[in-house]
Amino acid sequence: MRELDTSLISDTVARLCMEANYELGRDMLEAIDRALDREESPTGRSILEQLKENAAIARSESAPICQDTGLAVIFLEIGQELVLVGGDLEEAVNAGVRRGYEEGYLRKSTCHPFTRANCGDNTPAIIHCRLVPGDGLKIVVAPKGGGSENMSKVVMLKPADGIAGVKQQVVEWVRQAGGNPCPPTTVGVGIGGNFERSAILAKEALLREVGTPNPDPELQVLEEELLAEINRLGIGPQGLGGRITSFAVHIKMQPCHIASLPVAINIQCHAARHKEAIL
Ligand code: SF4
Repeated sequence: MRELDTSLISDTVARLCMEANYELGRDMLEAIDRALDREESPTGRSILEQLKENAAIARSESAPICQDTGLAVIFLEIGQELVLVGGDLEEAVNAGVRRGYEEGYLRKSTCHPFTRANCGDNTPAIIHCRLVPGDGLKIVVAPKGGGSENMSKVVMLKPADGIAGVKQQVVEWVRQAGGNPCPPTTVGVGIGGNFERSAILAKEALLREVGTPNPDPELQVLEEELLAEINRLGIGPQGLGGRITSFAVHIKMQPCHIASLPVAINIQCHAARHKEAIL
């Protein structure tokens, strides 16, 4: 059994909070370049150019890509042969978030749901844990902005609704979302599982690098069909019209109950932030 001190987890989470907020991934930069090749709207092209410039400034000046530095969503894959020592795992993650957001001058966005009083340190983080074989620990930090998160949905379709029902839900929801999630977006779709699993599948789908194919060829075709339909809506960059409403549609799917067809949609804005480390 391998031992890992939880203080190392705090240090890593703090670093990843800052890196995620300062450095837009290469996949997103390449997606913007591909979008520039296809966008015909002058306003849309101007916005895409500004997104590139904004990302370059954020990286070079260690400044947030967006003022909404998000709730800290953390995915942990914990090796079942790993022994955590030195303290409570959840507290270690929250300590890392607290430090990363303070030292990185990142906006604290958590608040009481009713009074709206700010919690002051961007905790509690949203933590998802999965046990995996081995003795390692994978940490993914994915800050998620409120504007795009508000454009989320879970719907329990009838089994007979099938693929056509899923497509109708996704395209119609993106149409209704309009410019609210700060397009161009990546549309995460979770299909199957149950109510809460479908939502987590949709969020996990957003972690795949934009531009990489779905490992399931059937889902790859569905993603391409959905993206084509979404980009015919004309919403465009920042909702001001154009061809490029979304960079990509990402789907994750798993089996569900014979009576159900859960579908979740979680939209990611152009500030698609996630960084990871393996300890
Ligand atoms: S949705 Fe994204 S780009 Fe828009 S304000 Fe929120 S974090 Fe920023």
